Amino acid sequence: MSALYGVIGDPIAHSLSPVIHKGWLREHGIDAEYLAFHVPEGRLEEAFDTFARRSVRGLNVTLPHKAAVLALCDEVSPLADRLGAANTLTRRGDGGWAADNTDVAGFEIGFRRALEACGTSVLDGEVLVVGAGGAASAVACALARQGMAAVYANRSLDKAERLAELHTSIGGHARAIGLDGLAEAMERCAALVNATSLGHAGRSLDWQPGRGRLAYDLSYGQVAGVFLAPARTAGWCTEDGLVMLVGQAAESFERWFGVVPDLQTALARCRAALEMAS
Ligand code: NAP
Repeated sequence: MSALYGVIGDPIAHSLSPVIHKGWLREHGIDAEYLAFHVPEGRLEEAFDTFARRSVRGLNVTLPHKAAVLALCDEVSPLADRLGAANTLTRRGDGGWAADNTDVAGFEIGFRRALEACGTSVLDGEVLVVGAGGAASAVACALARQGMAAVYANRSLDKAERLAELHTSIGGHARAIGLDGLAEAMERCAALVNATSLGHAGRSLDWQPGRGRLAYDLSYGQVAGVFLAPARTAGWCTEDGLVMLVGQAAESFERWFGVVPDLQTALARCRAALEMAS
């Protein structure tokens, strides 16, 4: 029987993870199956009993389980522990689970490529991160690891303050502001990262003139299209979060199978799947 891997979350039907991983398994001739498992909030323990019976060897984790899975794991990497969130679980030889976080590495890959696509390699000034939820904490960790300065803007100021603290505890300068300071921060920043879920509600920001600076949205597909359209009109160089998604998947794949998969083929498969769905 093929080894079993998968992604858990709710909702999960829209997930591109099976498209990405199944393609890489085929490319590398690996005898394994990768499935999407619908696991509603509060049903994690039950799901883990099933995964143990079915000898599942590896899992990606998405909303709403990234924090809750930590309690069910026997080993948590220092990074996942610091963020309080895991997106990659690996079955150990003794049957227990090891938790890690590859969202940070995924953002590093995606953001670097986005800067290159906008003709920038070094940022002079603060990165403005709008939003302070789960994904923004991976962004904070990545920016801090690279010694970048950042300003965190969020509707709930306390969450932005927590991210600024996380950032400075790792390295580099960071501060927090409420959304009333957004226009001024947007005018001054070196690049902007959107980590809000505004695009999912068909909304965007009031964009100041971009002057060719990067506006990087963590979402992708139609959601990012809606969010980034007015940014482009205002003169920002826009990139979506698809490379981040594929980048975090590549880091998971390497941990499980010991091979570095090809980002480009996965990106092409994802774009085709998004095109079909639109
Ligand atoms: P989340 O934890 O739910 O956080 C949502 C954020 O959006 C919070 O900061 C929230 O502010 C803010 N927000 C929501 N509605 C708002 C409104 N009407 N006005 C102002 N702010 C509002 O979500 P998440 O998991 O961090 O995901 C954020 C985005 O990243 C989503 O688009 C998601 O699809 C994307 N994402 C991409 C990847 C990838 O691999 N590319 C991975 C993960 C997530 P409050 O704190 O004030 O509520």
